[in-house]
Amino acid sequence: MNKQDVLQLFDKHYGDRYKVYVPSIKLEKNNYFFMVRDNHNKYLAGVGTREICKDFEGDNLEEFKIDKYELIVKRCYLNHHNLNLLRGIFPHLNPSFCGLQPSFGTGDRLGIATPAHLQAFKGKDIFPVLAQQSVREMDRTERNWQKVLDDAIWGCFEAGYEGPFGADADHVKEIKELKEAADCGFTMFTLDPSDFIRNDIKKLDKQELDQLYNQIPNSKEIEGLYLGKSNKIKGQELIFDEKSLKEITLTYSEAINHIVKCYEFLKNYKKNDFDLEISVDETPTVTSPLAHLFIVLELQRRGVDFQNLALHFLGDWQKGVEYKGDVKQFAREFSLHAILAKTIGGYKLSLHTGSDKFSVYPIFAQETEGLCHIKTAGTSWLEEVKVVAMKDPDLYREIHRFALKNFKKDRASYNLTTDLSRIPDIDKISDEQLVDLFNKPDSRQLIHITYGSILRARDKEGKYIFKDRIYKVLFQYEEDHYQELSNHIKRHLELLNK
Ligand SMILES: [Zn+2]
Repeated sequence: MNKQDVLQLFDKHYGDRYKVYVPSIKLEKNNYFFMVRDNHNKYLAGVGTREICKDFEGDNLEEFKIDKYELIVKRCYLNHHNLNLLRGIFPHLNPSFCGLQPSFGTGDRLGIATPAHLQAFKGKDIFPVLAQQSVREMDRTERNWQKVLDDAIWGCFEAGYEGPFGADADHVKEIKELKEAADCGFTMFTLDPSDFIRNDIKKLDKQELDQLYNQIPNSKEIEGLYLGKSNKIKGQELIFDEKSLKEITLTYSEAINHIVKCYEFLKNYKKNDFDLEISVDETPTVTSPLAHLFIVLELQRRGVDFQNLALHFLGDWQKGVEYKGDVKQFAREFSLHAILAKTIGGYKLSLHTGSDKFSVYPIFAQETEGLCHIKTAGTSWLEEVKVVAMKDPDLYREIHRFALKNFKKDRASYNLTTDLSRIPDIDKISDEQLVDLFNKPDSRQLIHITYGSILRARDKEGKYIFKDRIYKVLFQYEEDHYQELSNHIKRHLELLNK
């Protein structure tokens, strides 16, 4: 039996009930595995010998005798147990280490975007990090590490993808969370030490600064290492004078201690290689090139082997919209960071809140010469809601009104300049015009930041108000969903000049 025979056999008997995802068909020994769907659900189909299918959870649809073969056709569930078996049979379904290859993260809040993301990556020489979710996002989407990873892997299977991919446990603050993510099989860990970064240092007078600095146990050692040391980068001299060294040390030293602890834990706990990202982007303090230098030198001195570094770069980085700020000024300052990173070597610069920052992508890719990682998440969610607006305008209108009501509460955890008064009144625009809302910054941000409230909203009986209906629309119009989403991610990837 070859692939064609199996497809024909399946089509003949079940073609009226199930559609086969043809690229997903994979052979192992005498068994075929592939993804199918009916009008409501997706399933894993197994066609093969009695032996192999017996471990999978599902129901036997039929037994066949073709020539010498005795075949079982089994319909299996897309659950964790079956996925683990499948990962054992097909090792390419396991996430892997990325290292210093250029890479791009596609957060997927609904867990159904991976096949679309993979379409966008086709032909691009960029390592995809397909499972990527932050602790905060999981809380708001009611998901967990295992679900995030499993969904992405099922997506790889559906698409027939056999290449490598990463799984990023994003913005992790505690060892407990690192352990959970490592247990689930994540291969990349993004440490967020922002709770340990001091943002009040610039406000201190000299006496207060000295006093605090002298309380640091290794303050003398730090001075010996850095005070007066200068580094010439692109004609510009970076010098640790007394004031800047004290300020930078006080701002970051507790954070660095925390990172060292987390790294030691991972190194001992994870048996295989893992990617480590250090992110200091989510703090009010813009990371100066001098602070960048200090952080990296300290981490290296203390033996932390990290692959990515996310800094708080100059400018206004808001969710789901273009970069706000002077792009030329960003380019000038960023080029210092990029040269610094290349000079010290051994790590990539990572850009967070990377959704829709089209104007800075070319700068980011060129200056780093591909030593870069980019994270996006909200933009995929926005494309998905856009498809809802295209296919079920009434549902979108309900979501939109609900988002308006929740915006004030939800915006608290974000840096935004959204002005709701600039959003057109949806009662006055036609169904066809709804899609235009996704081209405007204010309405994009409205939907972007209220995702948690939208997905968790329940009625009096405890049923989801929107979530299930959103999934239903995207399932029904899957091709449109994949098309819109992959086109949008492609726009990002193409600007990275690959
Ligand atoms: Zn971040």
